[in-house]
Amino acid sequence: MTDLTDQELIRYHRQINLKSIDIDGQLAIKKARVLIVGLGGLGCAAAQYLTVAGVGQMTLVDGDNVDLSNLQRQVLHTESRVGFNKAESAKQTLETLNPATKFAVMKTFLDESNIDTLVNAHDVVVDCSDNMTTRQLLNQICFRYKKPLVSGAAIRFEGQVSTFCWLQDEPCYQCFSQFFSNQGASSDDSCVMSGVIAPIVGVVGSVQALEVLKLITRAGNPLSQQMLMIDGLTGQFRSMKVKKDPACPVCGVLHK
Ligand SMILES: [Zn+2]
Repeated sequence: MTDLTDQELIRYHRQINLKSIDIDGQLAIKKARVLIVGLGGLGCAAAQYLTVAGVGQMTLVDGDNVDLSNLQRQVLHTESRVGFNKAESAKQTLETLNPATKFAVMKTFLDESNIDTLVNAHDVVVDCSDNMTTRQLLNQICFRYKKPLVSGAAIRFEGQVSTFCWLQDEPCYQCFSQFFSNQGASSDDSCVMSGVIAPIVGVVGSVQALEVLKLITRAGNPLSQQMLMIDGLTGQFRSMKVKKDPACPVCGVLHK
């Protein structure tokens, strides 16, 4: 007996066929509640794969509206929805991809007044935001509640992905900050100023979606204690190990 319908068994067959997913994994995906923060380039890419993969519930958070200049890379938005809230616009496209997924929309930016409740109500958090303030806040709150966090960033031809599971001795996003001074992808060095090539946000958002599905189904090993660095110009993917900073103001043992 399974809780998957015949239609679902057909729809998700190629995923269920994977030994590390199987029926149990697909059921876990169906039961999962995923929070997506930011429905720009990364959020559009991550959300579309999580939707078609069968995630049961997703909350989409974005206070920004669709602009014509977003359409070059934010694939869930359309010309007819310029001026619409991005979370709402994304939901409209996502619902056509998989009517079984239930979406909640928050037409606001995350801040200290709403983040605790939101993070607590989900199983996995996907950081697709575009600014350091939101990234650091998400890191703090996910650390506090020990909610898995999948963080992505993209700018120019470059991307980064890391996953935080909060195991002992695991670094947090703040511990990584020493690497950000020469890595524009995680600073406030915005895409407006520096530019961004369309597919790099798709690559990063897709890796984030993959990480989420791995966390939900416990398949493989998450990108924890490391930063995946993607260089679109050379085609190189490199993974850099990162250690916990004992003096980290968020997770450091010396700080407590
Ligand atoms: Zn830390």
